Amino acid sequence: MATVQGADVVIVGAGVVGAAAAWRLASLGADVALLDRAEVASGASGVNAGMVDAPGWGRPDEHPDLETTLKMGSWELYQRVHLEEGEPIGFRRSGSVAAIATEAEWELAKATVDAARARGQEAELLSSAELRSLEPEASPLLLGARWSPLAAQADPAEATRALARLAARAGARVLEGHAVVHLRPRGEGFVVATELGELHCGALVLAAGAWLGPLAHLLGVDVGVVAVRGQMWATAPLPPRLFSTFSAMESPLAWATAPIEAGTPPQLTHDGGVRRARHLYGRQNRTGEVIVGGDRQLAPADLVPTADPAGIAENRAQAVEVLPFLDGAPATRTWAGLMPFSLDGRPFLGRLPGPGRLFVAGGLASSGFNRGPMAGWLVADLVAGRPVPPCLSEAEPSGRVRERNPSGRVQERDQERNR
Ligand SMILES: Cc1cc2nc3c(=O)[nH]c(=O)nc-3n(C[C@H](O)[C@H](O)[C@H](O)COP(=O)(O)OP(=O)(O)OC[C@H]3O[C@@H](n4cnc5c(N)ncnc54)[C@H](O)[C@@H]3O)c2cc1C
Repeated sequence: MATVQGADVVIVGAGVVGAAAAWRLASLGADVALLDRAEVASGASGVNAGMVDAPGWGRPDEHPDLETTLKMGSWELYQRVHLEEGEPIGFRRSGSVAAIATEAEWELAKATVDAARARGQEAELLSSAELRSLEPEASPLLLGARWSPLAAQADPAEATRALARLAARAGARVLEGHAVVHLRPRGEGFVVATELGELHCGALVLAAGAWLGPLAHLLGVDVGVVAVRGQMWATAPLPPRLFSTFSAMESPLAWATAPIEAGTPPQLTHDGGVRRARHLYGRQNRTGEVIVGGDRQLAPADLVPTADPAGIAENRAQAVEVLPFLDGAPATRTWAGLMPFSLDGRPFLGRLPGPGRLFVAGGLASSGFNRGPMAGWLVADLVAGRPVPPCLSEAEPSGRVRERNPSGRVQERDQERNR
């Protein structure tokens, strides 16, 4: 190993989560190194749809839950980056429509709107005519839509690079092309070995997205995060046709009523190779392309993801049902990425039990662009010993990770013993 350097904190993974954590820690005065095996935003953070849901903070006299805190905190951070930090990221408060095609979908949408309003959050049900007054291209056959007025969109790769630039400006070292190949404890801290040298650190943050599992294995820990392939397609650039982000209520209904297979994360479109739900989301981006996605299938973490043409065709058919003009707008490019899904559906945000200052920030699934900045920010506050909101306990890793013994077999970690 050539170089030996030191840092207070090493963060592995320069996606939206790691970059936000680096920005926060460097701003607090820590000596931070943000490592990525490739470039900033080379994982899911660079290829996602850029949709940012924002339900509203809710009643001021009630503590927001983790979902609200991550979404609204990130929404505020994106606005800060775009409006105050001199980093235009294409942030636009566009609102979001979720298309309703059946009575059962209407009932589910109504229940979620009622629940949101009871919490003091913002959501509405739109009739078919109201929907088309917002989105004239929506199919007249739809019954209406669930409308989220605060929802937004941003350019995902630009936003992630902006967070990393802000981290660098605050003093963090952003080290691209540094693949972590080995990790070992050293006192309270760790030695992080890459093919280019070693770094010693006082605290280590694992923020490697869909590769969190293999990375944690280097320290003998089994974190229940698996890779799920997401895929998208885009039309050629078109004149402005869509204003809000869009989705469909079909998959939330399917997932609300279908049982979850043991050992797989919730909210996948496929069970093995068999489709169990159609899923749809998208927006028109700043270049004019309409970008659309849907399928979520388990994949090996070492997969170089490419889109499955059959899934793209199915997704296109559903998109045309919701937005008929897309029938005349074929896919001109497709792409895929790996998302970090946790097996229990909850993120992993916190310190791992056991010796050493080892933290994990991940498992944000299909809404990590939406929730990632605040997730990274809160883990950074934990690392820095600052107060964090009580809702972070919803993502506590203790009791959810397992330790691998030297034979490679996995055993439950006793969180109390290791505290
Ligand atoms: C097609 C698609 C559409 C999506 N649409 C949306 C959306 O509209 N809204 C939304 O909120 N979310 C969306 N998501 C999900 C979102 O992109 C992810 O949840 C989020 O980007 C995860 O961020 P991350 O920082 O945890 O991981 P990543 O962005 O994947 O970053 C992890 C980084 O770790 C690095 N790394 C891994 N192993 C090592 C190692 N050994 N050494 C060094 N570096 C390493 C990788 O190179 C990578 O850059 C979508 C995802 C996909 C694939």
